[in-house]
Amino acid sequence: MGMTPTAMIFDIQSFSVHDGPGCRTNVFFDGCPLRCRWCANPESQLHRRQLLFSERTCKWDQGCRACRSACSRGALDVNDEHMPRINRRICASCETIECVKSCAAEALREPVREMSVDDVMRVLTRDMRDWGSGGGVTFTGGEPLMQSDFLIEVLKRCHEKMIHTAIETSGFTSTERFLDVFSLLDFAFVDVKNMDEEAHRWGTGVSNEQVLTNIAALAHSDRWHGRLVLRQPTIAGYNDSDENAEKLIDFMNENDLFEINLLKFHRLGQTKWEQLGLTYEYADKGDMSDERMSELQDMYLDAGIACYIGDNTPF
Ligand code: SF4
Ligand code: SF4
Repeated sequence: MGMTPTAMIFDIQSFSVHDGPGCRTNVFFDGCPLRCRWCANPESQLHRRQLLFSERTCKWDQGCRACRSACSRGALDVNDEHMPRINRRICASCETIECVKSCAAEALREPVREMSVDDVMRVLTRDMRDWGSGGGVTFTGGEPLMQSDFLIEVLKRCHEKMIHTAIETSGFTSTERFLDVFSLLDFAFVDVKNMDEEAHRWGTGVSNEQVLTNIAALAHSDRWHGRLVLRQPTIAGYNDSDENAEKLIDFMNENDLFEINLLKFHRLGQTKWEQLGLTYEYADKGDMSDERMSELQDMYLDAGIACYIGDNTPF
């Protein structure tokens, strides 16, 4: 018998109503092959030890130096002049993370943990009774397809327990893998960030070719029995043009796809970029007006495609 796979998970949130039908538990997978410039969960891009540090909660000004003493690798520099400075190169390979336990103020956090299939199933079984009818689990991230062996195991177990399963994904993996996973899913959001290859590469670090190929393959596959909703984080100056919408409408018509969810760009990830010591490029651009969102919605509706705006859509 092979080893039971484990996965790096950075969060599990119960009672979500924005990520699939009904009330759901969201499982956030660590790691992502894309590098979206506007990412709301940048910690998932790194896929290595990643300390989050909150300046606001840190008590260094009251003389606290607990983390500095706890870290045996000397990665934390804190003194009367400045709050902790993290040498992230040292932390990248740290196994012990003593600093997090030592910080009573919870200013230091390491969100990622390794979980087994049983660990995840325990949480889902606990949450099941709170979902009510129509709810279930949504695998998101990060990119759940990056740890697809694990995901497939969990999906099989969910299937046995008749748990409704959904995914939020960039769709970036081989077509074979994509279809293997989707044959076990009930519901999917797949992102189409930009129809222009160059622009997709600029915004995400990868080409859109694989993603579009996978969506088309799925649309024509007899292994897929679920509901597919395309999703687009809609960002001013990046993918909010008529031209992009027209190309996406053509693509959807060619593949008999009829549902899309446009999400208005938001800045929820900004604090995390800062806490990771990274620069957030979208601090003062990308905002969409409600008016432009409805203009885009009308374009899809006129083409006979159901277009939902925002994450309050009852799916
Ligand atoms: S993660 Fe490890 S190396 Fe980095 S500060 Fe914490 S204890 Fe030190
Ligand atoms: S232990 Fe926590 S509160 Fe104290 S200095 Fe370190 S990060 Fe700040």
